[in-house]
Amino acid sequence: MAERTCGACGLCCKLMGVAALAKAPHSWCGHFQKGVGCGVYESRPQACADFSCYWLKAEGLDDRWRPDRARFILHREDGGRRLVVEVDPASPNAWRQAPYYATLKAWAARGAADGLSLDVLVGQRGFEIHADHDVDLGVVRPAQASARSA
Ligand code: SF4
Ligand code: SF4
Repeated sequence: MAERTCGACGLCCKLMGVAALAKAPHSWCGHFQKGVGCGVYESRPQACADFSCYWLKAEGLDDRWRPDRARFILHREDGGRRLVVEVDPASPNAWRQAPYYATLKAWAARGAADGLSLDVLVGQRGFEIHADHDVDLGVVRPAQASARSA
């Protein structure tokens, strides 16, 4: 597969906080230019340069999963043991739509045997996704808590 690029996406520049810029999560970075991308690309913070969402690397996911289309970002935490679905609070139910939800459930079923977890985060609220049920965790983090990490 040809290497994917972000194209016109940029959703991480909205959803993820960037400590070096004191940029809060869930609001657009002041350096993001619609249709252009990062306005300070050459000097962007290291956390931005290091961030690469799962869609960029996952061969099995087609363009419907591009974050600006899906309205969520997939990324790994805890050394890869936790897959996080960071949902745009402006589209809080995007992850429940087809084809996403059924795929997330299939991943949860496969990952459980290997001790992997799958969480959905919508703003401050979290959900644990399991093969046969979901757990609404309620408020799991403060409003400013989604940070970019590699
Ligand atoms: S969310 Fe993923 S595809 Fe979109 S701009 Fe960020 S790294 Fe690129
Ligand atoms: S500095 Fe650039 S890459 Fe980083 S969040 Fe802002 S627009 Fe996105």
